[in-house]
Amino acid sequence: MGKHLKGALFRFAVPTCILGLMILLLHDFFLVNTSYYQLAHDTLSGEDFRNMSFPDGGLACLYALAGQWEENPYDVITTAMIDAGYRFAGTARALSHLQFEQLYAGMQNQKPVEYRKLRNGYEAALADLRCFPVLKSAAWNPERLYYENGWGDLRTYGGERPHEGIDLMDRENTRGILPVVSMTDGTVTRLGWLELGGWRVGVTSPSGGYFYYAHLASYAEGLKEGAEVKAGQLLGFMGDSGYSTVEGTTGNFDVHLHVGIYLNAGTSEEVSLNPYWILKYLEGKTIEYQYREVR
Ligand SMILES: [Zn+2]
Repeated sequence: MGKHLKGALFRFAVPTCILGLMILLLHDFFLVNTSYYQLAHDTLSGEDFRNMSFPDGGLACLYALAGQWEENPYDVITTAMIDAGYRFAGTARALSHLQFEQLYAGMQNQKPVEYRKLRNGYEAALADLRCFPVLKSAAWNPERLYYENGWGDLRTYGGERPHEGIDLMDRENTRGILPVVSMTDGTVTRLGWLELGGWRVGVTSPSGGYFYYAHLASYAEGLKEGAEVKAGQLLGFMGDSGYSTVEGTTGNFDVHLHVGIYLNAGTSEEVSLNPYWILKYLEGKTIEYQYREVR
């Protein structure tokens, strides 16, 4: 190597490399610290977490990345959601595997308890989801069903309260027609009349999520508390029961299925989650629906 070349290397190339490295380190420092901020200031009861905000195919995108990288999907989801401020859109620039590994390691080291809590929350909410809760078949026009992101909207029956689920509306407003199926495998842990929910079914899934289906017109034959159900299995038919202490009251609102998703159901730490983006995700899932009666 010539003398001039060596001199040039030390005068330009080496300082450039050092500067580049410093910029990279500073960038990572701020990136990682922003994530820690999100992690430290949110728990399972935080509105950000509970919103389950995965617009534009965000959830499907995260599952795909986890598969591609051969990483645990709930670590990928937790890390990406914390990093993105609890809203991961499928159209956003995707994380690189290296970025994920750095963020994940940092979060694990610095906030292991909070990280684990969130990760378990995502897993309980998402891991057992298999299908959309209303049977889509040739028997009905998919246009018949519609829903909006009405989680948190004001409800006034029985006192002012936020709406803790999503309403799937029947445009034809006819009770007892549209079949309601379980989104997950699980155990029927609640079944019967509720003043607000009318005839409802609550299914607890193997990962610990509680899935609540309300305002039914009728139950699937033989369905009772303690029964094991499979994803896609018939729970009952969509209706308009509820908003009364008198069992069997119908007609206080239009025919719809109210879908609720809860973590730590029945405990002092119970929280409701927004099912909207989860339902959008399930719309895109192609699974063989199992229209089965309970034995
Ligand atoms: Zn509702």
